[in-house]
Amino acid sequence: MSVNEAYRDKHINGLRFSKWTIIKRVESSKNRERRVLCLCDCGNTNEILFKTLANKESTQCKSCSARNNKARKTHGDADRTRLYRIWQGMKARCKYKSMGATFDRYGGRGISVCSAWEEYTSFKEWAIKNNYSDTLEIDRTDSDGNYEPSNCRWVTRKENALNKRVSGKVGFRGVRMNKNKTGFEVQVSINGRSKYLGTTKTAKDGAKLYDDYVTINNLPNKLNISKEK
Ligand SMILES: [Zn+2]
Repeated sequence: MSVNEAYRDKHINGLRFSKWTIIKRVESSKNRERRVLCLCDCGNTNEILFKTLANKESTQCKSCSARNNKARKTHGDADRTRLYRIWQGMKARCKYKSMGATFDRYGGRGISVCSAWEEYTSFKEWAIKNNYSDTLEIDRTDSDGNYEPSNCRWVTRKENALNKRVSGKVGFRGVRMNKNKTGFEVQVSINGRSKYLGTTKTAKDGAKLYDDYVTINNLPNKLNISKEK
């Protein structure tokens, strides 16, 4: 049954059009335009022209529509905020090969952004809940782990630098700077136990040593440089 037939037969009560639910048909105005009394999902009611429902011109009440516009406007302004730029940077490092060496240290070794954070609004929600402020930086607790709520927190620039220095982390899986900073120690975790593989001159050589060991021994560990398929 088409909506026009439904209207003629007065079988329209309870029909839904987006947020509107028709309560009842009201007397046609002089020019015989069909009008209906509708209930919006928010609880507001209004009399509207039936044709504006059928052609989707009207989908919600005025206050709902104002609220949506405001939300859209806020999001549109978002690229000027620091938090939004952090979100963009995080995604870029994990996704775009054109980022070069930066991509190699993130997306290139399998680090990704969780699906929830693909949406800026959900990242922002997490950030605010976790005391984000414009002086803090995002930090992954496990530097081999992904950008996701369980592995991220906000730290000061100082804390971030300190973490990096103390742990000797260089951004490659299994590779860290040795204590006297003369080379890079390479270790692989096998069944929860650490195995020392050697020390290399550069971090990248360390990453390669790690990857080769994992590949040759057919270990389930993720590689630093994802192999082209
Ligand atoms: Zn409404």
